[in-house]
This record gives sequence, C-alpha cells and structure tokens, in this order.
Amino acid sequence: MFRTGIALLFLAALGIGQPMIVKTSTLIDGKGHVLTSKEIVIEGGRITGIADATHRPTLDLSGYTVMPGWIDTHVHITWYFNKDGRLETGPSRTSTAQQAWWAAVANASATLMGGFTTVQSVGAQLDGQIRDLTASGVLPGPRILTSLVQITERSGTPEQIRATVQKEKKDGADLVKLFATASIRDGGKMTATVEQINAACGEAKAQGLRTIVHAHATEGARASILAGCTSIEHGTFLDDDTLRLMAERGVYFDPNFLVLHNYLDNKPKFLGIGNYTEEGFAAMEKGLPLVADVYKRARKANVKIVLGTDAVAGAHGHNAEEFIYRVKDGGDSPMDALISGTSMAAESLGMADRIGSIAEGLEADLVAVQGNPLDDITAVRRVVFVMKQGRVYRSPGN
Ligand SMILES: [Zn+2]
Repeated sequence: MFRTGIALLFLAALGIGQPMIVKTSTLIDGKGHVLTSKEIVIEGGRITGIADATHRPTLDLSGYTVMPGWIDTHVHITWYFNKDGRLETGPSRTSTAQQAWWAAVANASATLMGGFTTVQSVGAQLDGQIRDLTASGVLPGPRILTSLVQITERSGTPEQIRATVQKEKKDGADLVKLFATASIRDGGKMTATVEQINAACGEAKAQGLRTIVHAHATEGARASILAGCTSIEHGTFLDDDTLRLMAERGVYFDPNFLVLHNYLDNKPKFLGIGNYTEEGFAAMEKGLPLVADVYKRARKANVKIVLGTDAVAGAHGHNAEEFIYRVKDGGDSPMDALISGTSMAAESLGMADRIGSIAEGLEADLVAVQGNPLDDITAVRRVVFVMKQGRVYRSPGN
C-alpha cells in the first residue's frame, strides 16, 4: 500500500499519469484561514485544485496540520562549523573548498527537511551553485534566492557601487544585500553614506532587483527606506517614527530572534573570531529584549513583518525556532507568525503568485507537522512531511 503510494508520488512528481491527491484534516492556507477536511490536487508540481475531501487520496495527511512550505527571507546557507567546531563562512586557511561545499550542501538539506522550501541567502558566491543544483533537483534543498555578494561602506564610491550592482545582475543575483549600519556587536551605527545607500537601492531598482538592508539603528534604516529599499533586516534600535515610515512606504521588516540565541548558545564556536568578542556577546545578550520590544512596536505600527532568521552556522535546520521566539517573546499570535513565514514572506520576495500559500495555481510546496501550531507553536519543531514543487522530500515515518 505504502509502496504503491510512493510509486504514484514519483509519477505525479514527474507530471505523469493521475494527479496526486493529498488528503488533509487541518490546513492552514498561509493567508490566515484554517480549512478542514480538504483534498489538495497536485499536477505537474502545481496545485490545481482544493476541494472537500471525497476522492481516494494518493497521500493521506489526516491527523497532521498542513501548511504552505515555510519561507526564510534571511539565511547564510554557506556558514558552518569546521572539524574543530569553529565558524567558517566558506573556503579558508583552515577549510578546503570541498569541505565548504559539502557543508553548504548539508545546510541546504537540513533547511528543507526542517520545513523551509524557500530561503533567501545573503550572500556568497557559493550560494549561486547551491541554488542552481537545488533548483534542478540534483540536490535536496530549498528554493534559494541569493545576492551572491554583500555591499558595504567599503564597496567604494556611489559609481563603483552602481557598477557592482550591474555586475551582480549580470552574474545572476536575485537581489541586492546592503549593509547600512554596523553589526549589533559594534553598536549598530550608520556606516554607509546616504550617497552609497542611494546608489545601491537606486541601481538595484533600475536593474529590477530588490534590496534588503542590514540596519540596526534609525539613521541607516531611514536613509534606506527613503532610498526605496525593499526590506530592513534586524532593526534592533528603530524608533517609532521609522517604523511608521516603513509602514507608510510598504517596506518590509525582518527582525530576528534566532540569530542572537544561536550565537549565545554556540558562543565558544564563535568567540575570538573577528568581532565575536566578549563585548560583542554582551551586546547580543542586551539585544534580545530590544528585539522583543521593537517587534511589538512594529506590529502596533502595522509594519509588514516577514520571517527571517539570519541563520548562520548552528542554526540551519532549526529555522522554525524563529516562529516560536516570535510568539513567546515577540507577542505574536501563532497565525501572524505563520503568515510572516508564508504569504507575507512570499510577497516581500515578489513571489506571491508562486509560493507562500495553498491556492490553485501556486507551486505545490507543503509542510505538515504533528500537532497544531495554532494551539501550540512548538508544533513547528515536529515536521513530518515536506513537499517542494510537488516532489516529496520527507514523509511520515521517515
Ligand atoms: Zn545576515
């Protein structure tokens, strides 16, 4: 019986034969609705119908909660711990290109198995190769969007920054990543000039690319919002005026809890590298209540909040913890947290017509968990099923 199911799944994944029918008892559609006792019809990797469950299912997910595949708008898929348990961000003196490659492959797989079918990785050159191989189905991994490089205050004059953005576009980047301020470990003050920010965001727009901006403090965030950027990342020290401006301009906000917890939980693996100093860790510890505070104020100001984790080494595969922190520490309702990680995230990526909800015509990205996250948000830890573009990567019992 189960073997027949798998064979049918395989054929359906190839778009051959009968459509796949996934039976559900509880379905959260990604846009704030709960549907009961529905069947999802999938053909050629797309959802072609949702109706009351009446047909004999190819796959029965009754008893689980089914959602759109989750989306993380901010990860670093290439960051990992080496054999000595120390941070690496790619090939280095202590890590070969091959080790870096396999670590990134493992991170991509862990992320997908953890329920995330789309991530935005910002950004390393290796991201692009992993993106292409997961897209072709050779590697198990989420759909990946990448900036390939990062633009900072050290990226040169506004003219040089424009040239860099043009090159990014030519090299196949999906978006632009800009640093407008320092790291939280260095106080988060504005580092890029207004001219540099205008050049990056302006040229990105001219090239048809989105810009997401690392900005902790108000000044850098404000300049980025006014420059027409798409999303503000982190935003730990933002004031209410800036949050209101974001809401007015429709700029997305991606505050992150997981990244700070992950650093603090894995402190010995980072300590002593670059700005991962004792002072840096103290700043991150102090940052946690600030993230909770800005999170609540952003909700009050009706800012469009997306789910991003800033997943670095140690966090890949645990991205769903962000949902839990947002509910427990950010005061979110489970539904709002889920919307941030599905339809709202998809909208911020300009992909709402392809992913982020369960609706006819969208790609068949599904995740199912044991329990119901609306009753107990920690259910997001209990992923039992993952489908991306109609292909099953994880199913109950394995
Ligand atoms: Zn980051």
